[in-house]
Amino acid sequence: MSVVEIQGVTKRFGTTPALDDVHLRIEEGELFALLGPSGSGKTTLLRAIAGFVDPEAGSIHIDGDPMHDLPVHRRDIGMVFQHYALFPHMSVFDNVAFGLSVRHVARAETAERVRAMLALVQLDGFEERRPGQLSGGQQQRVALARALVTRPRVLLLDEPLGALDKRLRRQMQIELRQIQREVGITTVFVTHDQEEALTLSDRIAILDAGRIVQSGPPQAVYERPRTVFAADFLGDANFFTGRPQAGGRMLGPGGKELLCAEIPGDAGAEVTLAVRPEKMRIARAGEPASGDANHLEGTVTGVLYAGSTVTYRVACGEVEVTVLEQNREAAPIAQGEAVTVSWRPDHTVVVEP
Ligand code: ATP
Repeated sequence: MSVVEIQGVTKRFGTTPALDDVHLRIEEGELFALLGPSGSGKTTLLRAIAGFVDPEAGSIHIDGDPMHDLPVHRRDIGMVFQHYALFPHMSVFDNVAFGLSVRHVARAETAERVRAMLALVQLDGFEERRPGQLSGGQQQRVALARALVTRPRVLLLDEPLGALDKRLRRQMQIELRQIQREVGITTVFVTHDQEEALTLSDRIAILDAGRIVQSGPPQAVYERPRTVFAADFLGDANFFTGRPQAGGRMLGPGGKELLCAEIPGDAGAEVTLAVRPEKMRIARAGEPASGDANHLEGTVTGVLYAGSTVTYRVACGEVEVTVLEQNREAAPIAQGEAVTVSWRPDHTVVVEP
């Protein structure tokens, strides 16, 4: 049995559907990320699980129990939001103890559980501080401890690291994952940071206009996007048109033959192909190109130097492609140089337009 089971959930605000027939199962102990552009329905889905939003169709079950008509405080859910809203006038201890005091947990047990939670989030010794005397990362750890202390069935996180600067955010991502594993709590996580979704989660779902367009383990979704939207939203991609021919061949840009891992059966129909920039390699014309089977000749039209990587824009006849290279060479290839771009057949993915 899945811990969270969402079936056919639909929610409209006015005429726009914020959620449109969403189906999702989240398994025990999973960290599941909801990813999608602004307005795609991520927060609405989280709020529907929590009970703040009432779906007009469909059902939500937690541990097999229907959530319909069950108010927020009886759903046994822990929540952390971007703006963590700790009680400013209360100590760290009292903030974390709050959920236990409203449940009338005995004083000794409360003290014990709060201490254990603060140790888990590495804030022992901070019991008497006020939220205003903590850094942003520390406040977010208090919020996490506060959400976990009641031992909820599900933890919901809405952009919990969104207010932190990049370096602290990276550090907190690692800590969050460790804590989540240690506690073993089923977690649904909203983010619009694709790298965060890829590094943290066991599975992700990509939302577009209230619909889940693809879900699966991060690597599966990244390596095998099903649609142009998914390929484009999760990472970068080069797209071009291919024309499958009889005999399992594919013609790409400029009528050049391309080798693909899978070629759809119906010859003649145009298909869209996607290749990730980092899967492509670039070599100066005349220098030995990689052994990869697919080649396009072109001219460098742009060079973006970023220290550890260099991004090239290359015009190859009618198409322009982006190539992301590790910065291994003595000097990047210059704009205007003639180059060969190459990649492996299994890195050419057929996607739905
Ligand atoms: P973001 O990344 O910007 O937070 P999101 O993916 O979380 O976006 P939602 O907040 O779920 O998106 O919103 C989905 C759609 O529903 C949007 O079009 C939004 O304007 C609309 N919406 C959400 N809440 C309400 C509300 N209370 N009243 C009216 N419309 C709403």
